[in-house]
Amino acid sequence: MASEISRCGDGPAPGNLSASVAAYSALTVLECSRCSAGPYEAARVQGTCECGAPLLARYDLAAAASWTAPDEIATRPPSLWRYHELLPVGSAKSVVSFGEGMTPLLPMQRLGAELGLPRLLMKDESPLPTGSFKARGAAVGVSRAAELGAAGVALPTNGNAGSAWAAYAARAGLPCLVMMPTDAPEITRAECVAAGAETYLTDGLINDAGRLVRAAVAGRPGYLDASTLREPYRLEGKKTIGLEIAEQLGWRVPDVIVFPTGGGVGLIGIAKGLRELQRLGWLGETLPRMVAVQAAGCAPIVRAFEQHADTTEPWPEARTQAFGLTVPDPLGGFLVLEAIRATGGTAVAVTDEQLIASQRQAARAEGTWVCPEGAACFTAVGELRRSGWLAENDEVVVVNTGAGLKYPQTLPARPALIPADGRIPPARGSAAPR
Ligand SMILES: [Zn+2]
Repeated sequence: MASEISRCGDGPAPGNLSASVAAYSALTVLECSRCSAGPYEAARVQGTCECGAPLLARYDLAAAASWTAPDEIATRPPSLWRYHELLPVGSAKSVVSFGEGMTPLLPMQRLGAELGLPRLLMKDESPLPTGSFKARGAAVGVSRAAELGAAGVALPTNGNAGSAWAAYAARAGLPCLVMMPTDAPEITRAECVAAGAETYLTDGLINDAGRLVRAAVAGRPGYLDASTLREPYRLEGKKTIGLEIAEQLGWRVPDVIVFPTGGGVGLIGIAKGLRELQRLGWLGETLPRMVAVQAAGCAPIVRAFEQHADTTEPWPEARTQAFGLTVPDPLGGFLVLEAIRATGGTAVAVTDEQLIASQRQAARAEGTWVCPEGAACFTAVGELRRSGWLAENDEVVVVNTGAGLKYPQTLPARPALIPADGRIPPARGSAAPR
């Protein structure tokens, strides 16, 4: 087995995954994202590398390319599982699903005109189960954890990952422990409790919650620490955002992809997925420029990018209304920086006032009530267009990671009250009332 493992990854097909017999997954081994330790066996529950860095799933891409092709994938059901050869779950029977994936790639013509970008698109993750992109990581992560026989899953969360993992764990029949800061969106607590997760609050931030979870997992044999990038498969779910964007554009990439970046799994995943498609021969040589967007109140990746550093430093007193971006010390910060730099991208921080204004602007222009994190990307796009970093003709995909509905306090509404025997004022033209 060892000699086969050492030949895996992007190299030639190992003997046990011969090109003639199609398997559900082309997963081979796990490799460290930072050092040369390993490779690690993929057939059992794994955490991080012994050096502490995240492990990355590797596939026999030559075999996958012989098992399927874009034309055949087009005939499959519209869920992220249509890319199952490039996902880690070993059989269709192990898939835990609510039908997630193939979210809309929406032209944003009115908002694009306002921002000076007629080719603006939005990958809208709000229709996913539990209302955010976290469903992708949870679907793949929980499916694989259950397949490998984990006794339970445990994770710290800024809210949406908790609600997603709680829901998928319930569907898989797996116990789930969730630890979230008291400031996390209130609805996400209710979602975790409703799905039967063992739910706790902490008065710290997500890194504190992570420490508490690690201590708890150490005392619970068989539990998987499903913290961001501390297990290898959440990332694999997230990468399907990139696979879907490529397929939805007719197997090509846009000029730029803009992603709100807390822990960074989405951005790292998209870059990983697109590189795998390149190696399959399904995409050309150019990758989109990747843009990481953070909140000014918690911007460790932007700071490191501007200082030409390869790693991030913890951000003191992190605070923003885009709560999903409150990740002061991301484990995968160096991988985000690598993806941004390798693609000629950039990193931008925006203020809460700006992102709330963008949230309102997107809702009025397009009817899309995006989450604060997604809204931050529209602010960034406007700034990058004004600075000239984005050209008018650039095709730009903003990833809206979740539903604005989960953050009702960000856009308070005070409609006029009309007495029951009163009268509604005359129409003010075609514009919506303001
Ligand atoms: Zn390592």
